[in-house]
Amino acid sequence: MHDWPAPVEIVNPTGTSSVVLLCPHASNYLPPQYGTLGVPQSELQRHIAWDIGAAAVTRNLAKQLDAVAFLGTCSRLLIDLNRPLDSASSIVTRSEHTDIPANVGIAAQERALRAARVFTPHHQAIAEHLAMRKSQGRRSVIVAIHSFTPTYDGVARAWHVGVLFVASKAFAQASIERLRAQDASLNVGANVPYTVEPDTDYGVLIHGDNLGNPALEVPQPSQPTTLPLLYMVPHQWHNVRRPGRPPADASGFVPGWTRVRVVEPIWFEPARPLADDGCCRE
Ligand SMILES: [Zn+2]
Repeated sequence: MHDWPAPVEIVNPTGTSSVVLLCPHASNYLPPQYGTLGVPQSELQRHIAWDIGAAAVTRNLAKQLDAVAFLGTCSRLLIDLNRPLDSASSIVTRSEHTDIPANVGIAAQERALRAARVFTPHHQAIAEHLAMRKSQGRRSVIVAIHSFTPTYDGVARAWHVGVLFVASKAFAQASIERLRAQDASLNVGANVPYTVEPDTDYGVLIHGDNLGNPALEVPQPSQPTTLPLLYMVPHQWHNVRRPGRPPADASGFVPGWTRVRVVEPIWFEPARPLADDGCCRE
């Protein structure tokens, strides 16, 4: 018997913020009929199965911003919500150094099943929500929350946060400047530790750039022991309710963290018109 979760968890669907949060890699859940995909259980706790900590960051941002958030409900090892269906990494057979035996040589029918149960309805829900906002004359600013492993394939990634973009250059630059201005010790990078590519990304391009919505992907380290967990809000517009301060203690957000510094959310009016994003004209 097949048992599937809802393809998307929508947090705060009536949120009033311009920001629309995406967290496609929020969960490491596998429907029971898939077992562990042939992978040791311990591997399913690692970053290859999900973005550790990203769901908690997203939920907190949704609350503080009064923003809607769309969270994935299945592990990326089943099918990756942040890849086009025709990408070679849509359903991976190996991730970093781990083989995914149950994904090797799967039939087209099985691929189609995973797409129909997880990928397609997930993105359909986001698309419908964005269309509804547009019909109501509401702005939509896409912010995709991810986490990255601090060491990948033996290479250390020193950034505290990345701001990734393709079309929204001015929006990204303003966000980076604001982050640096807030905390000079932050190692903030543009388009690091990876870049947004059509073959290895989806949400920012499809729900953002392609629709003319300002869009950023914001990855943060998943398991640091000395680095900050950021409540990263790159941009916030006029007429959005200003929520209260974040909780002082965020130590419960990411299991295994030994020290967590909370950075104040970045609330600001645009430092200058970001005309090329089309996002700040009233
Ligand atoms: Zn991710």
